[in-house]
Amino acid sequence: MAPNDIASIIEKLQSFVTIQTQAKWQFYLGDGVGEIDYEAFEPEQLQAVQLNENNYGIFPKGGKLAWFYQKFVIPHDINQYEIEGLHCRLNLTWWAGSASVFVNGKLVCEGDLFDSSTRLSLSPNVQPDDVFEVAITLISPSHDIGALMKSQLIFESDDFAQPDAGFVATELQILSQYLEKYQPELLPQVATALQTLPIETFQNRAELDQALAIVREQLIPLAAPIKTRQFHVMGHAHLDMAWLWTTDETWEVGQRTFSSVLNLQKEFPKLTFGHSTPALYEWIENNRPDLWAKITEAVTKNNWELLGGMWVEPDVNLVSGESLIRQFLYGQQYFLEKFGKIAPIAWLPDTFGFPQQLPQICKLCGIEAFGTGKLHWNDTKPFPHGLFKCDRLIRQNF
Ligand SMILES: [Zn+2]
Repeated sequence: MAPNDIASIIEKLQSFVTIQTQAKWQFYLGDGVGEIDYEAFEPEQLQAVQLNENNYGIFPKGGKLAWFYQKFVIPHDINQYEIEGLHCRLNLTWWAGSASVFVNGKLVCEGDLFDSSTRLSLSPNVQPDDVFEVAITLISPSHDIGALMKSQLIFESDDFAQPDAGFVATELQILSQYLEKYQPELLPQVATALQTLPIETFQNRAELDQALAIVREQLIPLAAPIKTRQFHVMGHAHLDMAWLWTTDETWEVGQRTFSSVLNLQKEFPKLTFGHSTPALYEWIENNRPDLWAKITEAVTKNNWELLGGMWVEPDVNLVSGESLIRQFLYGQQYFLEKFGKIAPIAWLPDTFGFPQQLPQICKLCGIEAFGTGKLHWNDTKPFPHGLFKCDRLIRQNF
């Protein structure tokens, strides 16, 4: 069995707990914006959504309001795999200046351009024939079209002792990707174990789950090397200081982003967040002393990491070396003065190209590591690496 057969079994397992819902939305363009009220929903106006080539349901730019609606009736099973009792979630991704999601007429989730996806819990214990009427309002950004980009229903077991087929699929995906790269000689063992699954012939969920449990037992020893490694994941919210909006909007989004991170940290104390751009910190310091106090406390507790060290995340191609050094000088000086430490990581996720003297300038400005996503955008000279190890720090380049 070749690795692509492993991949096709993983895909099949995922399909038992997933319902693709993107093509089944109904849609109409509302009039007016402002406060979104479910009372304003006019179901008689709905028409089938027309998806574009990317599978997006798009609508015009300029603050236009779109209503999307779909009625979900939960089936008994998906290809013989009963979903009764599983946790049902609606995964959504949108591109909109503002988003509101109503389930059975009740507002349950809001978002915007930066808070642009959700794994919305519809029921922790779903039953056949349960009905969920979901209505979504999206308001397009002023500068761009709006879109409902992705939607699917997923069914998950909340009980890790009795995982669902999708959970095991994810485990298998991680294991096989790891082995492909580091121990390909072990892949046949995975393939042989998977051949025992009654993937096309099982009669009910219990039968498949039992077979999956046996496969997990067999494969767990292969995962031992993965378990010796640790990932450290840090939250971040990329925010352009200026692009297709005014700086007023940047300050507004900065405040909202930082407030919601601090709220999330209350709920998830292990959440570490990192942010760059001393210019933004200074604005918060001068205009939102309440928020500033909470951020400084989070930095002191090491829940909040100072990134970048440059005053803003600048262009680094057109400017002179002196300009780059001054970015670091004023940025690091500010961090040192306010927090007693400098940023150890140059943070340029959205800068298009890098001059060759940048490593030297970074190093001499106290920087030990570098994070970006843009190296992977090079279509003429693909950059071969994504992860770097330096003396003290290891950081994922994403
Ligand atoms: Zn950007």
